[in-house]
Amino acid sequence: MEVFTSVAELAEFCNGTRSNSLTLGFVPTMGFLHDGHSSLFERAVAECDVAIVSVFVNPTQFGPNEDLDRYPRDIDADIERCKKAGVNALFYPSIDEIYPDSYAHKAPQYPQLTTVLCGQFRPGHFDGVLQVMNRLLSIVNPDRCYMGRKDAQQLLLIQRLAKDYFPKLEIIGCPIIREEDNVAMSSRNVYLSPQEREKARSIYIELSKVAEAFKLNTEVETLLDNAKRSLQKAGLEPQYFELVSRDNLSPQKVISDGEYLLCTAALCGTTRLIDNFFIDVKADGEIFIDRGRNINQCAVNMHG
Ligand code: AMP
Repeated sequence: MEVFTSVAELAEFCNGTRSNSLTLGFVPTMGFLHDGHSSLFERAVAECDVAIVSVFVNPTQFGPNEDLDRYPRDIDADIERCKKAGVNALFYPSIDEIYPDSYAHKAPQYPQLTTVLCGQFRPGHFDGVLQVMNRLLSIVNPDRCYMGRKDAQQLLLIQRLAKDYFPKLEIIGCPIIREEDNVAMSSRNVYLSPQEREKARSIYIELSKVAEAFKLNTEVETLLDNAKRSLQKAGLEPQYFELVSRDNLSPQKVISDGEYLLCTAALCGTTRLIDNFFIDVKADGEIFIDRGRNINQCAVNMHG
């Protein structure tokens, strides 16, 4: 596996790949990689000729009081994990490489998508995500970019960015990988004490209860309010618990046929956790719930 730290060298590698008519799959990450990330690498490796992973903790997507300085990092373990997954190239740039003094490119703005849900509690976060993704996608210019449904708002936003600015690029949303206790895998889970970890389990439980209740009760407001209260009772501090349209993230009060996102963010101690289910309701009323996959049920052994 090649490791690149320079934009120019990575761009040359990517151009070489394209000129040989090979398909290029890209997985952007912030490192401290876990099996959730590996599930994306494995798809990129299986479905593309060349798979590239980036590890870059993007400062512009962190607020002034957020965890940029203490965000967990372990590049040696990340390199090993990427090698095991069969990744062809790892991009591990410095901040100056991504944002040189000369870098003044303004990313597109999508206020309707960036100021709701997590955007209400993390002002500027998604503008930083758009900025770094715009930069990375322009350098790599992949055929496919693999992203997790774990960060659903981010996924839907980058799908919009791609539609408008990278029309040949396919953004592929991949299922959430969950720990044995169904807590969604996240680099930030290392912040949780054992007691907090216990409390974090209630997030999946409440998402499941609400999603199941949709099968019988299509009045969503009471269900969402009850779920929020249950999270509080479990010792979490919920920021939102919402049902929104996957098309434009607008809140939904009634469930009929369509594509929805049932999503929540909650503070567990000082750690902010997010989680969601994708819910599809067909015209005949049949409901499909994508809860993601438990690590124990994954077909591929992702521990290498
Ligand atoms: P991050 O390193 O947290 O920025 O995540 C990099 C990519 O991995 C994003 O597309 C995330 O949505 C995805 N990802 C993170 N955690 C998971 C998970 N538990 N399951 C699936 N994808 C994930």
